[in-house]
Amino acid sequence: MYFLIVAVIVFTAGADFVGQRQLEPIYPSYALSKMGRLSDYLPSLRDSDGDSDLYFFNGREPGGTLFIIGGTHPNEPAGFMSAVILVENLQVQKGRVIVLPRGNASGFTATEPQEAFPGTFQIVNRAGKERSFRVGSRFSNILEGWPDPIIYRHYPSGQVLSGAETRNLNRAYPGRADGTLTERMAYAITEVVRKESVDLAIDLHEAAPEYPVINAIVAHERAMDIAALATVDLQLEGLEFNLEPSPTNFHGLIHREMGDNTGARVLLFESAGALQGRLRGATNAELILKSVDPFYIKAGELGKLRVPFPKEGIPLEIRTGRHLAGIAAVCRTMGDFEPERAIAYSNIPSYAELQEHGIGFYLQ
Ligand SMILES: [Zn+2]
Repeated sequence: MYFLIVAVIVFTAGADFVGQRQLEPIYPSYALSKMGRLSDYLPSLRDSDGDSDLYFFNGREPGGTLFIIGGTHPNEPAGFMSAVILVENLQVQKGRVIVLPRGNASGFTATEPQEAFPGTFQIVNRAGKERSFRVGSRFSNILEGWPDPIIYRHYPSGQVLSGAETRNLNRAYPGRADGTLTERMAYAITEVVRKESVDLAIDLHEAAPEYPVINAIVAHERAMDIAALATVDLQLEGLEFNLEPSPTNFHGLIHREMGDNTGARVLLFESAGALQGRLRGATNAELILKSVDPFYIKAGELGKLRVPFPKEGIPLEIRTGRHLAGIAAVCRTMGDFEPERAIAYSNIPSYAELQEHGIGFYLQ
C-alpha cells in the first residue's frame, strides 16, 4: 500500500518535473528558410537543456546578416516575445535574418527562487486561441551545476563576480567550448556569429525602471555610429532611447566580448519591466502583460525612476514595440551606412500597429 502511495507521488512529481522541461512551441512564418540548433555550432550541447532552436530567413536579394537573440534572460518576457513575433511573421527581402528566441534555453526550465514570479502568462492569438508562455529564470537551471561556486571567475579575463553569475549567459561571453553549460551556450552563440558571418547582432532585454541603463541601446564601439543615427531616427518616431557605450572594463557582456571577438556590430536593447524591479507589488501575469503597478506609478510621480512610468503602466506591447522599432531603425541605418550589407524585411508590426492591435494579433 505504502509502495503504491510513494509510486503515485513519485510519478506525479516526476511528470510535473519533466513537463517543466518541455518548452512551448513557436510557429514560424511560411517564409522560414531553414531551422538549426545551437548544437550545430557546438555538438556537446546536443541533448542538453542548453540547446535551442535557430530560425533562418533568407531574402532573395543579397545583403547583410542580422542576428536577433531573445531570452538571454528568460525572466524578461519582452525580449523573448519580440523574437517570437519575428519568427511567426517575418518575410525577408534583402540579406538574411537569424532568430534565437531562447538564448538561454536552460533558464526557461527554471524559475527565480523567492521572487514569486508567475509560472506562465497567456495571450490570445489572432484565431482566438490562448497561447501560454513561461516565465523563466535570469540564470541557467541550478541543476546544471549545483552548487554555484562562491565566486565566478570569467573566462578568459579572470574578472571576479558573485557565484550565481556563473549561470548568467550575459556574463559568460565569449564563452568556452569545454566550460560550464552557460559558457558553452555563450560559445555556441558566438560561433553562430562567426560561422554565419553575422554583420549585426542584437540582444533583447528588460530591466527594472530604477536601473540606470534603461530604455537604452548599449553599443560596442564599432556599432556606435549606426546606433547613434538609429536613436535620432527613433526620436523622430516619438521613441526616446538612451545611447550607452559598452563599458570597456566590464567583461562577459555580449556587446563587449562579441564585439571584440567577432566581426559583427553588437547591440543590446533594454526596455523597462516592472517584473525585474525591487519596488513592484503583486507579481502576477497581469504585471507582465499590463504593468500597472501602483508602487512604480508612485515612484514615477516622485521622480525616482530613470524612465517615465505612466498610470496606464508600461504594457508588454510597449516594451516589445520598442524592441521591434529599435531593430527596424538599426536595419535602416545599416543600409544607409553599408548598402551592400543592407537588410530589408516586412510583415513585422510597427510600434503604432502593435499598440493598436495588441501582441495576440501577431501570433499564429
Ligand atoms: Zn537582461
